[in-house]
Amino acid sequence: MKITPDLNRLLNELETLASFSDAPAPAVTRVVFSPQDLAARAYLREILSAAALELRTDAVGNTFARWAGADPNLPAVATGSHTDAVPHAGRYDGTVGVLGGLEAIRALQRSGFRPRRSIDLLVFTSEEPTRFGIGCLGSRMLSGALSPENARLLKDGDGNSLKEVLQEAGLDGTLENVRLANTFYHGFIELHIEQGPLLERKGIPVGIVTAIAAPATLRVRIEGSGGHAGAVLMPDRRDAFLAAAEIALAVESAAKATWSGDSVATTGVCSVFPGAVNSIPSRAVLEIDVRDTDLGRRDGMLSAIRAACEAIGVKRQLRVEIDLINADAPAQASPLITEALSASCQALRIEFMFMVSRAYHDSLFISRIAPTGMIFIPCRNGISHRPDEYASPEDINRGVQVLASALAQLAQ
Ligand SMILES: [Zn+2]
Repeated sequence: MKITPDLNRLLNELETLASFSDAPAPAVTRVVFSPQDLAARAYLREILSAAALELRTDAVGNTFARWAGADPNLPAVATGSHTDAVPHAGRYDGTVGVLGGLEAIRALQRSGFRPRRSIDLLVFTSEEPTRFGIGCLGSRMLSGALSPENARLLKDGDGNSLKEVLQEAGLDGTLENVRLANTFYHGFIELHIEQGPLLERKGIPVGIVTAIAAPATLRVRIEGSGGHAGAVLMPDRRDAFLAAAEIALAVESAAKATWSGDSVATTGVCSVFPGAVNSIPSRAVLEIDVRDTDLGRRDGMLSAIRAACEAIGVKRQLRVEIDLINADAPAQASPLITEALSASCQALRIEFMFMVSRAYHDSLFISRIAPTGMIFIPCRNGISHRPDEYASPEDINRGVQVLASALAQLAQ
């Protein structure tokens, strides 16, 4: 079977999709359910229908485009990604997986292939957390990781509830119907730009993802006591910022002590009150991001950070409160998918490497309900979430070929 993507059409579609933007080109800003996002969704429905796919949109706006198989009762095979974009992003994050997935299906249709299992293209709602503060909204609900009750509590920055925003977008279905059964999909593959520099550095065109790291987020509040920076002498101080500084160093130590090659921990936020040069900080708030591909190691770092917070609080006589804001479990790719992908690369004579995804994707959640894997293609200098994000036509073409070949294997 010869799989020949129509690369020019795909590049034109990527360009058209990028034009639905609230920022001037080359930047792309497309926040979920904004007028530009709704216009982009209408454009997508048009080109998905033109490929003779059956469309369905669920209550949270996830779109399913189905190429019906000869045996439609079998669990389907699926691919897909997202089309929302963070402010001042580029045109390839997510969109390569959606439009590349569409082109993979069209290339299979043109080749004369007829799938036994149906093949679905999914466009997930709000992979980016920009509007509702939570990433992977659509895939979280599909997998049951976010319940309808908790989804109803979500509000955007203007105080609109998710339900109000969905109604405004013309979606008034029941959120209870979004969750998919664990038997719904035989397998799921997401094609995505790497968003890191490894493939480009090694000169390898395809990465097969074996595990997806997941973040846990801690917020630490430290209450000390303030005072005049000249009047309170050093032995009498309970400086909240100094405790925060020690905790930030303990965060670094926790990751270095765990170091597995994949363990990382970052203190990305430190706010100090009252924030005056001649006042002793009375309060500090830290936000800490901890990631690993292994849940045990990730949670081990969290425990080490908690223990350090307590010890530093006691030593400095400060109150330290720790809130776990979020802790998604990391995911392992399914051998069913990684083997289909490596067999495809070998058949196509495309060099590949196994690698880990350090950013999280909709695949993290779909992996809870279906055998899942990802294909990474290089992006220039590893840059993403910036207007100069770039993936070359040749790399996109190879990614689509590998995807199409693996979908065909899984669907036959
Ligand atoms: Zn993405």
